[in-house]
Amino acid sequence: MKKIVFAVLLMLFSLPVFAITVEVKTAGKNEKIVNEVGYKILNANRIPYKITFYVINNSKQPNAATYYRNGVIGVYDSLIKYTEDENEIAGILAHEISHAVDYRQGIFRGYFSFLNSLNSKNYEYKADKRAVDYLVKANYNPLALIVALNRIAPEYRYDAFSSHPLTSRRLATIYEYIYVKYPEYLVQNEYKDNMIYQNFLITSKENRKRLEEKIKSNSNKKVKYL
Ligand SMILES: [Zn+2]
Repeated sequence: MKKIVFAVLLMLFSLPVFAITVEVKTAGKNEKIVNEVGYKILNANRIPYKITFYVINNSKQPNAATYYRNGVIGVYDSLIKYTEDENEIAGILAHEISHAVDYRQGIFRGYFSFLNSLNSKNYEYKADKRAVDYLVKANYNPLALIVALNRIAPEYRYDAFSSHPLTSRRLATIYEYIYVKYPEYLVQNEYKDNMIYQNFLITSKENRKRLEEKIKSNSNKKVKYL
């Protein structure tokens, strides 16, 4: 009898402990991947600014944001659930790191860098292109940025009232940047069988045609993407 009471007591005391351990381990997994990928990009690119990564748990939308005041990059945990490989997480982090770098540059340690957001669309294009460079330097596949954005970024009808350019325009601009600067990733395309990438190829058909025409005509004019 004593043995049974002891066993029951042991069960009562050990169950919550076990539950807590599991919870802590699950929460730690996201922080680990975000830190690993984030610091890999920072170090490979020799970024001289202190940047911190936080995981925002129980988030509904897959997203990430950079706080210009303190260089913190908040990564929503649902972003990790939605992405399929490390390259995709790297794509989104590289974009945010690019913002964080911008926030540190300029006079007074970038104190007035928030003014850049007045021209936020150019700011986004710039962050996307620099993200591609960061990814390549850190040995990640830059096409993953296209895959990740195609997967998580919504597409509005017009971009007039949004701080971000239309996702289709962003994707086409990233594609053009990779096409011109890092064509090897398109020749040996690791994402060619990826469903999300194939969806991008279908939805970007007209934009890619416009890019092809520009290249054929050897023009320097900016392509007008849809
Ligand atoms: Zn951005």
